[in-house]
Amino acid sequence: MLNVSMTLQMVIITTHNGGLNMSKDCIICGSNIPPHKNEEGVVYWEGGHNAEPYASGRCCDLCHDLLVIPSRLKQMREEKV
Ligand SMILES: [Zn+2]
Repeated sequence: MLNVSMTLQMVIITTHNGGLNMSKDCIICGSNIPPHKNEEGVVYWEGGHNAEPYASGRCCDLCHDLLVIPSRLKQMREEKV
């Protein structure tokens, strides 16, 4: 009984996320993108970062810093040559 309800819950979550234009899951590592909050703890941005050109979609802070920025710099260098 427990397994059935858990599977159903996952399906609902997956469907729910898929129906949104702005996914809150990182396109690169698949983890949930943490919302950015101000000093008062109010969420002001929860869409993550643009993962282009590394990937097409939204990504989390970590993947943005470690993967997207370097690939963006690499692309800029290649365009210059
Ligand atoms: Zn990520």
